[in-house]
Amino acid sequence: MSNCLFCRFVRKEIPTRVVFEDDTSLAFEDINPKAPAHVLVIPKKHIESINSMTEEDEKLVGHLAFVARQIAQQKGTDQSGYRIVINTGPDAGQSVFHVHLHLLGGRPMAWPPG
Ligand code: AMP
Ligand code: ZN
Repeated sequence: MSNCLFCRFVRKEIPTRVVFEDDTSLAFEDINPKAPAHVLVIPKKHIESINSMTEEDEKLVGHLAFVARQIAQQKGTDQSGYRIVINTGPDAGQSVFHVHLHLLGGRPMAWPPG
């Protein structure tokens, strides 16, 4: 996707604060952090949202959770706790249409979410 912001991060056309990268995923600091640790983990493949993922993406999307756990460990929030969020569609407030997993940690969080 040529004009997708997150695809442009993957292609290194726009700089971002990368915290982890492998063959299929990229993780970077959220530009507007909502917690002391707020990292976005994305597949390098462009998938608009969880609604548009296919069976062949199952492993890839599962891998994002595994990457998030490693980053939570790096950030020292794995024991205190963290939250993984994938906003999907208008009611959830999805604003970037390339699947991304929010990793939030470093402070207590309320439940249910707003
Ligand atoms: P969502 O609302 O779930 O689609 O999340 C989109 C996230 O992308 C928000 O938390 C934004 O702060 C974040 N975001 C938007 N633009 C950038 C950017 N240029 N670099 C890093 N994060 C961004
Ligand atoms: Zn994209």
